[in-house]
Amino acid sequence: MDSRENDLLLKGIGVSPGIIIGKAFLVDRREIELSTIHLNTDAEIKHELGRVKQALSESKQQLLNVKKEVEHKKIKEASYIIDAQILILEDKLLIENITTTIKEKKVDAASAVKDTVRKLSKSFDDIGDEYLKERKSDIDYIGERILRNILGRKRQDLSKIKEKSIIVAHDLSPADTANLDVDVVMGFVTNSGGKTSHTAIMARALEIPSVVGLEKVTKEINSRDTIIVDGTIGVVIIRPTAETLRNYSEKKLRYEQLEKELFKYKDLPSETPDGYHITLLANIELVEELSSVLEYGAEGIGLYRTEFLYLNRKDLPSEEEHFNIYKKVIEKTSPHPVTLRTLDLGGDKFLSHIDLAEEMNPVMGLRAIRFCLKEVNIFKTQLRAILRSSAFGEIKVLFPMISGMQEILQIKKILKELKADLKREKIPFNPQIKIGIMIEIPSAVIIADLLAKEVDFFSIGTNDLIQYTLAIDRVNEHVSYLYNPLHPSIIRIIKTVVEAAHSNGIEVVMCGEMAGEPLYLPVLLGLGIDKLSMNPLCILKIKKILRSISYHESQELLKAIDFFKTSAEIEKFVKKEMNKRFPGEFE
Ligand code: PEP
Ligand code: MG
Repeated sequence: MDSRENDLLLKGIGVSPGIIIGKAFLVDRREIELSTIHLNTDAEIKHELGRVKQALSESKQQLLNVKKEVEHKKIKEASYIIDAQILILEDKLLIENITTTIKEKKVDAASAVKDTVRKLSKSFDDIGDEYLKERKSDIDYIGERILRNILGRKRQDLSKIKEKSIIVAHDLSPADTANLDVDVVMGFVTNSGGKTSHTAIMARALEIPSVVGLEKVTKEINSRDTIIVDGTIGVVIIRPTAETLRNYSEKKLRYEQLEKELFKYKDLPSETPDGYHITLLANIELVEELSSVLEYGAEGIGLYRTEFLYLNRKDLPSEEEHFNIYKKVIEKTSPHPVTLRTLDLGGDKFLSHIDLAEEMNPVMGLRAIRFCLKEVNIFKTQLRAILRSSAFGEIKVLFPMISGMQEILQIKKILKELKADLKREKIPFNPQIKIGIMIEIPSAVIIADLLAKEVDFFSIGTNDLIQYTLAIDRVNEHVSYLYNPLHPSIIRIIKTVVEAAHSNGIEVVMCGEMAGEPLYLPVLLGLGIDKLSMNPLCILKIKKILRSISYHESQELLKAIDFFKTSAEIEKFVKKEMNKRFPGEFE
């Protein structure tokens, strides 16, 4: 019997949902210690250069072998990441830096590799962008691989794990995870990483629970410790007490039952018992997510955040690259529609190769549509590709951060020119392509009636709309307590937008995080939102709730909410109402 009274609970980022309880397997990735050897003769230098060459070619061969393996297992995500790592391995700058270090500093091959990789990797330290941060870990992996090949030291092979375990590591590369036996490996827990890190992508592809970004988890866990991993809420409990273990075992059972039940809803219509339909769509950032769009029964893609195409590279994507990706997305999603949002750069999404002036207030600066209307050639390249892809299925185009009429008129003028060019060049496209705008700035809400006359649909981006309405930086943890989607002002705003849209005969989508949160569904239903677009993993739960609350009830709920003046009162009331209908699910 465990005599401890407290468990150790760590909070990270839940990137692949589900609960697991099991023994930890701590991956040993201590840094390789080296002592620098100084070279005296040209022959020694030549010898060390030869060792680098040999190690580079061995590293490439090993990665190609891993690639073959993952392709065999049809894990496309990993194959894609390994391609990116091979590119780094062949990068001229990396190789030149290593060889120059050997020649000029007259040091051995291993020290030169370690030195070069440390410098390259350090240059990524101050980058806020999660995607670019991932390139840092690619460089680190590649560095370690070359180093191990030079020194003839093997990396711990995780495919040899035979006992059911949860992998605990600083970070994991696709080369580590691709060969894992999923019957043995129950989940991943890592110090580093974010929602789009390799470990996260792989965990979702393998459908095993995972929590990343735990910072020091490898320091707190020993191999064979019992741990609980809750990938849904991003929590890891280390060496749980008997009571926690019992509670979590029950929670796990309940969760698994609910999950199983949810799949019953996959092919059922997303409508209330009194026949009110809300279309449920998926938000995606990567082409790799397309499989979950279909798996969770989305009726299309309501938001494709195309800025992710611009990240993780040194140059801008060409029209052809945009076109090929959009064509692939629509072909896979057809007959359902796809909404492509044009580049939403800035705020917390930056590109290293686009030199934006430093701004005091980047969230209110030259971002999204403002940037595109300034750098109009970048905008036109993307728009032309979007138009071309509209010949292959129902593509809609969505413009982010619209603050007023002027921007729409400018966009429409550009679109007109591009359509005329394509027509002249006899390139097929849909001349009736639907255009929509993100409603995420309060000024757009105030003149929503005017804007509604110019576009085919609105898409409410609650992540930014709440940020700008309540003046809360959405990534600042000190003010996050104020970030409340049930703030009376937000409810009124949504109401204004829906009324303006409907009285002008256009539809309203909601694509911010609020759309995927079950607690808010009755409110959104009552407000008359036509479509909800969310992380595909949220769709089934939302559908389940939708199918058990009538439109009539939601109207009554909305009337009752009108009496409350604070977000806390509204939230308490909605929770109470939801708990009556779904006991235990909203506590
Ligand atoms: C939003 O602001 O709600 C939104 C969907 O866009 P993003 O999160 O990409 O800013
Ligand atoms: Mg936004």
